[in-house]
Amino acid sequence: MDLFRAQSLRFGTTIHTETISKVDLSSRPFKFWREGAEQEDPETADTLIIATGASARRMNLPGEETYWQSGISACAVCDGAVPIFRRKPLAVVGGGDSACEEAMYLTKYASHVNLLVRRDVLRASKVMAKRAMSHPKITVLWNTVPVEAKGDGEVLTALRVKDTKTGEERDLEANGLFYAIGHVPATELVKGQVDLDADGYILTKPGTSQTSVKGVFAAGDVQVRLAFLLLRARALSLFPCASPLTRLSSSHTGQDLPPGHHERRHGLRRGAGSRAPARRGGGSGRRRLI
Ligand SMILES: Cc1cc2nc3c(=O)[nH]c(=O)nc-3n(C[C@H](O)[C@H](O)[C@H](O)COP(=O)(O)OP(=O)(O)OC[C@H]3O[C@@H](n4cnc5c(N)ncnc54)[C@H](O)[C@@H]3O)c2cc1C
Repeated sequence: MDLFRAQSLRFGTTIHTETISKVDLSSRPFKFWREGAEQEDPETADTLIIATGASARRMNLPGEETYWQSGISACAVCDGAVPIFRRKPLAVVGGGDSACEEAMYLTKYASHVNLLVRRDVLRASKVMAKRAMSHPKITVLWNTVPVEAKGDGEVLTALRVKDTKTGEERDLEANGLFYAIGHVPATELVKGQVDLDADGYILTKPGTSQTSVKGVFAAGDVQVRLAFLLLRARALSLFPCASPLTRLSSSHTGQDLPPGHHERRHGLRRGAGSRAPARRGGGSGRRRLI
């Protein structure tokens, strides 16, 4: 991240560390308001790139707040190797490719992994489903959902799980619970102003980062489904800059990049009260796992 940031600055970017709470894309120049300054005159921009990302979907179980990052996580790759999960029974919730992949990844550290699937079938691709179901350290618990996270007040030790067919509940030993139930794109800001798909991701013209509003572009996870191609999503975070930059460079200045650079901070706090979503699963919330 530091390298990306340094490169941006070197190419003349001015970075404002702010939360944007409101935008008006009805006409050019586009208007936007910083959090806390909604009653003031808006700032404007001729071109806008929306790159607000997506965050892992959570279940908001009773006990989840207590054990978030103390047993509950939304990223096995980020958190799976930490000591509290080593040689312990773990659980993954979800039925798609991500859930299967997370479960398989966790077998490296766990004594056993229970994959909790709410239906009696996996939505994952055949090959992923087969690999997960045939893994000696993975048990698929069909028609099963977690209903409560339990622990000793410090770390997660068990889950209350429910059979979705019979309604029966029981405790399942689990020192880790990993969510693999999708992501929520941070598009509240532009909802109703640019075209979104049924799940709230910004729609762009095929092969481009152009949204339904001319001059508004979308970049990264807010536009690309993470589950489709994780690494491609990261690469795409960069390419939308090309289109607006091309336009800017051919405008008034005739220069490819603005000369000089500087960075301004407006002192707004991130975190509590901020509308910008926290970093994704592994990095969000309190960092207590390690
Ligand atoms: C659970 C999970 C696991 C992942 N694991 C991997 C992995 O192992 N390897 C890999 O390569 N990729 C991984 N990814 C993908 C990678 O993190 C993303 O593809 C990448 O971070 C996307 O970058 P982005 O800029 O689109 O969004 P983000 O990195 O989410 O950045 C969005 C930024 O916008 C800010 N923001 C949001 N709203 C506002 C607002 N209103 N005003 C101002 N700022 C705002 C946010 O605070 C944030 O800083 C993972 C993602 C998730 C969710």
